Amino acid sequence: MKKYDYLVVGAGLFGAVFSYEAMKRGKSVLVIDRRDHIAGNIYTKEEDGINVHVYGAHIFHTSDKKIWEYMNQFAEFNNYINSPVAVYGDELYNLPFNMNTFSKMWGIKTPAEAKAKIAEQIKELNITEPKNLEEQALSLVGTDVYEKLIKGYTQKQWGRPCDELPAFIIKRLPLRFTYDNNYFNDRFQGIPMGGYTQIVEKMLKGADVVLSQDYFELAKSGKLSDGSEVAWDKLVFTGQIDEYYDSCYGPLEYRSVRFETEKLDCDNYQGNAVVNYTAADVPYTRIIEHKHFEFGTQPTTIISKEYSSEWQPGVEPYYPVNNDKNNAVYAKYAAKASDEKNVIFGGRLGQYKYYDMDKVVAAALAVVAEEFA
Ligand code: UDP
Repeated sequence: MKKYDYLVVGAGLFGAVFSYEAMKRGKSVLVIDRRDHIAGNIYTKEEDGINVHVYGAHIFHTSDKKIWEYMNQFAEFNNYINSPVAVYGDELYNLPFNMNTFSKMWGIKTPAEAKAKIAEQIKELNITEPKNLEEQALSLVGTDVYEKLIKGYTQKQWGRPCDELPAFIIKRLPLRFTYDNNYFNDRFQGIPMGGYTQIVEKMLKGADVVLSQDYFELAKSGKLSDGSEVAWDKLVFTGQIDEYYDSCYGPLEYRSVRFETEKLDCDNYQGNAVVNYTAADVPYTRIIEHKHFEFGTQPTTIISKEYSSEWQPGVEPYYPVNNDKNNAVYAKYAAKASDEKNVIFGGRLGQYKYYDMDKVVAAALAVVAEEFA
């Protein structure tokens, strides 16, 4: 029987950062994953020279210099700046909401004109304290932008009407009165040249990694799927926290995403890495053209249409649905988790939190600091 200091369940970013740091401190680590590859949802796979973001667009961005430098140890990042465009019927707008968007929508030119237009629309609504995403959005951008660029997209992505969603989701979308199409406000941004998988590969160097391995099977039998016996002192669990506790307080809700990926016999399909489809009657939320993340010049291209759906067992969970109901259920699981001496929960699924990659790395490093204090 082989004994490890840590069993890390999930070979995604949280598990990989934790493993790397634990090994740096001389600990032995076994990493398992249900999937047949490492890197969780940041997994990228090369096809025809294009790094395909298999689980959707991942654009690394952070304002934390330490996190940026940390990631740069494992890959060189390019100078990609995310500047998605939104298609609404036969209209096309720049995102995030900025002077390019407003100018196209209202035929205006100056920030003062844009502000006046928005203020005029907001005034009629009489919202004092936004209670949900709809009110938050309306009170930030007014009716036109909400109706054309937010309402349909958000309802498709979350499968719930905007007045049943928490306001914080929309805070990801900055509002700007400059002609600046950079989606993120962060100081540092880029795509690792050569894809994300190499980063996790480097982080996991030195660990025993077993793929296509279910944790619950292992916990029951003490054996890996090849029959070998293993034991561990501590568990780092990055799967769904409700599943870990057998849904004893009821299931948490997640959103899932399905991708329809096609190779096309043209070199440039949409001229941009990310094009959002914001109308409710288009079934997908966005189309990703992968080559543009790395300024690809290949003769062909690969695109993925992204469809959002409610999570159910058997499909991949992507987004926690952090509304009041689910947060209350999660609080019960979190209380149970804080009583555990030998289990650490981490990542989007383990902490039921809509984390970006930089926040996942920061959270993993915080756990590391505590664990190895
Ligand atoms: N959103 C929107 N219209 C858009 C893009 C985003 O209304 O064209 C809103 C929507 O509510 C979404 C949130 O902004 O849930 C965050 O979107 P983003 O694409 O930043 O999130 P990701 O899916 O990439 O984590």
